[in-house]
Amino acid sequence: MFMTAEVRSVAVRGRQLRVAVRPGRRGLRLSAAPRRTPLLLINGIGASLELLEPFVRELDPAVDVIRFDPPGVGGSGPPVGPYRFTGLCALVAGMLTELGYGQVDVLGISWGGAVAQHFAAFQRSRCRRLVLVATATGALMVPARPSVLANLVTPRRYLDRGYLERVAGNLYGGSARDHPGQITTAMNNGNRVGPSRGYLYQLAAGAGWTSVPFLPLIKQPTLIVAGDDDPIIPLANARLMRRLIPNSRLHVYHGGHLGLVTEAEQLAPVVDGFLAASLQGRTGMANDARTAVTDADFYLIEQMLEPEGRQLLLRVREFMEKSVQPVINHYWTREEFPFDVVSGLRHLGIVGLNYEGFGCPGRDCLLDGMVAMELARVDSSIATFFGVHSGLAMGSIYLCGSDEQKERWLPPMARLEKIGAFGLTEPEVGSGAAGGLTTTARRDGDDWVLDGQKKWIGNATFADYVVIWARSLEDGQVKGFVVEKGTPGFAPSKMRDKIALRVVQNAYITLDGVRVREENRLQNANTFRDTAAVLRMTRAGVAWMATGCGRGAYEHALAYARQRQQFGKPIAGFQLVQDLLVRMLANVTSSACLCARLAALQQADLAEDHHSALAKAFCTVRMREATGWARELLGGNGILLENHVGRFVADSEAIYSYEGTREINTLIVGRAITGTSAFV
Ligand SMILES: Cc1cc2nc3c(=O)[nH]c(=O)nc-3n(C[C@H](O)[C@H](O)[C@H](O)COP(=O)(O)OP(=O)(O)OC[C@H]3O[C@@H](n4cnc5c(N)ncnc54)[C@H](O)[C@@H]3O)c2cc1C
Repeated sequence: MFMTAEVRSVAVRGRQLRVAVRPGRRGLRLSAAPRRTPLLLINGIGASLELLEPFVRELDPAVDVIRFDPPGVGGSGPPVGPYRFTGLCALVAGMLTELGYGQVDVLGISWGGAVAQHFAAFQRSRCRRLVLVATATGALMVPARPSVLANLVTPRRYLDRGYLERVAGNLYGGSARDHPGQITTAMNNGNRVGPSRGYLYQLAAGAGWTSVPFLPLIKQPTLIVAGDDDPIIPLANARLMRRLIPNSRLHVYHGGHLGLVTEAEQLAPVVDGFLAASLQGRTGMANDARTAVTDADFYLIEQMLEPEGRQLLLRVREFMEKSVQPVINHYWTREEFPFDVVSGLRHLGIVGLNYEGFGCPGRDCLLDGMVAMELARVDSSIATFFGVHSGLAMGSIYLCGSDEQKERWLPPMARLEKIGAFGLTEPEVGSGAAGGLTTTARRDGDDWVLDGQKKWIGNATFADYVVIWARSLEDGQVKGFVVEKGTPGFAPSKMRDKIALRVVQNAYITLDGVRVREENRLQNANTFRDTAAVLRMTRAGVAWMATGCGRGAYEHALAYARQRQQFGKPIAGFQLVQDLLVRMLANVTSSACLCARLAALQQADLAEDHHSALAKAFCTVRMREATGWARELLGGNGILLENHVGRFVADSEAIYSYEGTREINTLIVGRAITGTSAFV
């Protein structure tokens, strides 16, 4: 059978899924029209992905269309055992990530419609819009006649053409009553059949399941499509779902259960129109035929990444949304660090992302920055933990260490087996660290003896390697020393009662006659200029983080505005609320564009101190505004931790001040453009 898509096997969580992706036509996507969201199709029970080919052919060619065979169906490997919809939805989400897709529109037909409801409710961030075709609410549905149900309990109709021809009219209704051959052709036209076990597991996955309790929680705009002669799913079911799903509308067509296949020409434009347009009706949203662009990557910066880079970014997003977002407020409240998160970060392979060699991935600066943005988009504390370890600590070793030192320290740090920290700031010396450090390093034979105090040192309460910057009593210059955990005289103590980045474990450190070997002195850190080279790199990372923090707040605010109703309509429909949203988006977008250009300068080795200083100052100011506006948009709910935006507001205060305050970064740029230093 001719297919509009290449069929391939994709490994997801140890299973092989047979997948077909029809790529949207590039020429259409590059037009002025907004980028179309990819569409995921979930098939009916026992059917392989070929069944929906007639429908796919009729869909807008600009849209990527993803189909797959569930475990044990068509060409997908058999399931290891019985499964439920929750596990299947997690598998589908993993498949999307593997294919490089984030958020998609989801269309489910019949059994696949039940899976689609579950996916929309429990993988909410992955599903933008929902289309439910010839489907129902599971156990609590208006049932089919017993003679119809009897035909459904076995996969015989997929195996026995004569049998199918006999039962097609009674089973599928609509045009199948007069033209059963149309159904047998569609079913057998390349339709692959998997082992009966796959079919039975599909049946079992939905046994006892019902969506009735959670349909009112489905927030996505939903189109319900139902035939007026569907013996398997009587029309009353569609009307019930229409009442239960708040943001839904119903399209009734003249036909039977497989109308999507037999009446594809008629139904594909209905689905296309819904996916491309805003919803009208009870929500009060305008039906202005334009797609709501909910993606905060407004200028499509992600498209500047290679496909593997995009996939990595999606894996980071999935990890942060699933493993960090649900738990982070708990840790934030208690000022504790979620050590479990470290093993998740380890598996992502993102540590030291743009460093070459020494166990580091050697990827480009744009990807490294976008990963920092992605982390902060969900939580700035985790992004800061990561930035201190991967940027400040590993960066000091990477830029200022000898090859032998890099070989010794970087590989275990890249594997997150050893954690790093960076100690520059002191209780009495912050902005003026360049000339004012009071911590001293005294040479004593093959050792150095460090004395002094540090303040604010992130990760230092548990770090294995802390880079301490101290002034040499020999030549008066600033030098860097790697102090290992447990070294006598080295005493970190946790700082408490912060109002920002409460998950980050900042420490006061007392250094009282701390002895380190000469081999622990960073061999290429000879003056503060070398320290500044580290800050030049990491300030770019902080600019990306600030962009991510603003973006996270904006996305929360946008989602809230679309569902929060006042005066009988969503607040997103008010001009003043749209003004706030657009201002936030402009801040996030301009910051991201600036960072992307800075990444290109870094990649070409053209970035200087003033380039990253400008980005850090600009993006943190824009972040602070954006998080404040997001808080404002949520009204009173904006100060409740459970809505996340309040945490973003608080955390942005710390990001605004660390790694050089706005004033200090402004002075760096001012010096570059005027030729005059105004620091003192
Ligand atoms: C959450 C958090 C984490 C941190 N993590 C680390 C870490 O891991 N390692 C580390 O070494 N440090 C860390 N820091 C320290 C951070 O880098 C400093 O806070 C920052 O450099 C500012 O120093 P300061 O707080 O001492 O402010 P100060 O230097 O005392 O500045 C106070 C105010 O005076 C202004 N000011 C100072 N000098 C001038 C001037 N010449 N002209 C105009 N205005 C001026 C500043 O802009 C600021 O508004 C962290 C800080 C925070 C809050």
